[in-house]
Amino acid sequence: MGLTRKRDLRDGNAVWANYAVPSIRGARLRRSLTTEVVIVGAGISGALLAQALADAGKRPLIVDRRRAALLGSTAASTALLQFELDTPLTKLASSIGRRKAEKMWLASRNAVNELRTRTHRLGIEAHFKSRPSLYLAGNVLDAHGLKREVAQRQRIGLSSEYLDRKMLGRHFGIDRAAALLSHGNAEANPVELAAGFLRSAISAGARFHAPHDIIDIDCSRRGTTLLTNDGINIRARHVIFCTGYELAKIVPATNNKILSTWAIATRPQPQNIWPQKALIWEASEPYLYVRSTVDGRVICGGEDEDFADTKKRDALSPKKSKRLETKLHRLFPQVDSRAVTSWTGSFGASPNGTPTIGQIPGFPKCYAVMGYGGNGITFSMLAATLVTAEILGKKSPDAGLFTFK
Ligand SMILES: Cc1cc2nc3c(=O)[nH]c(=O)nc-3n(C[C@H](O)[C@H](O)[C@H](O)COP(=O)(O)OP(=O)(O)OC[C@H]3O[C@@H](n4cnc5c(N)ncnc54)[C@H](O)[C@@H]3O)c2cc1C
Repeated sequence: MGLTRKRDLRDGNAVWANYAVPSIRGARLRRSLTTEVVIVGAGISGALLAQALADAGKRPLIVDRRRAALLGSTAASTALLQFELDTPLTKLASSIGRRKAEKMWLASRNAVNELRTRTHRLGIEAHFKSRPSLYLAGNVLDAHGLKREVAQRQRIGLSSEYLDRKMLGRHFGIDRAAALLSHGNAEANPVELAAGFLRSAISAGARFHAPHDIIDIDCSRRGTTLLTNDGINIRARHVIFCTGYELAKIVPATNNKILSTWAIATRPQPQNIWPQKALIWEASEPYLYVRSTVDGRVICGGEDEDFADTKKRDALSPKKSKRLETKLHRLFPQVDSRAVTSWTGSFGASPNGTPTIGQIPGFPKCYAVMGYGGNGITFSMLAATLVTAEILGKKSPDAGLFTFK
């Protein structure tokens, strides 16, 4: 029995295999050691945290159970980097209160900006591009709901505008009742992005060791000891679990759950990409989202199912790919919607589409990053800022907003 449940996180061929990124392998630890900060998990969350900590003068030690970095969910991500949470601002405000909902939306906007700033400052290419987003009316918010949503967003300074059917048709060639056009989002190649941050952290003093499976933990006020599957003890003052959907068993059960999701990508078709290469998603259940890549492929994803069984998930892939092709064709008849690559993955969802980030109750100086919801990568950036501030003993205006209750 390990400390985190091992999952078959993904299956199929994600589009990112077309853009080779040299793999990052870690040296194996030979003996037990003591250090200040350990990060468990070398995906985008671990990479962003390691870079933020290295930037602050720490030398975090990163361990991963897989043979190299970035072999978890990050490799399957479609990487729409959005500040817009899964739950519309108006609906989140009704559920948890207006002030808290607004703070969460603004924290998410700041996280996307922070990710953009750091990516540029560190010179990471990763096909990182700022993109507008188009949120189409659907069964979650109709045209009337979108009008209320845009008013509430604009009131807190978020850059969104309302497009009626005519404007949407004229500017994007899409026939829907209405949409919100928002600015300040982005897209990237998630593998290259995470690799860029991890490499930057390593060159600033972070250390990466793999494969080492953390199978047990002993935590007290004086420090924490992690035990690896090969008998090595790692003693640390701070431990951060960035284990994605392979959640550590010491993390309290919240209402988060693991679902299954699917995605396809077409051949490059630069002539048929819609204006501004906007990220497109629907205010619908089940939702659909579409983005393009720098070389003109179209990625289309969604079709989520409420189960975690990976055999069942993988068996459904041919059927789900066909459905995504059909939906993409309906949205953009001019695009050659045939999938040339398709993949599936486990996906963590939270009740309001918001993350849980912070100290694990009963485990002093041990933190968990649970960026569950459609904005997983935005939440990884948010976590890097919040947990780094906590470790440095600095006050953050968003401290307490996403913590375990
Ligand atoms: C198909 C798909 C589409 C998505 N689309 C988007 C999107 O458009 N936008 C967005 O923002 N997010 C999206 N997400 C979500 C986003 O990809 C995830 O939130 C993000 O990749 C999680 O990164 P992570 O580093 O937390 O986890 P991972 O990348 O899974 O990394 C966790 C690491 O922890 C390691 N680990 C686990 N347990 C242990 C242990 N006991 N000991 C040592 N190591 C351990 C694992 O080996 C793994 O390498 C999508 C996800 C999927 C699957």
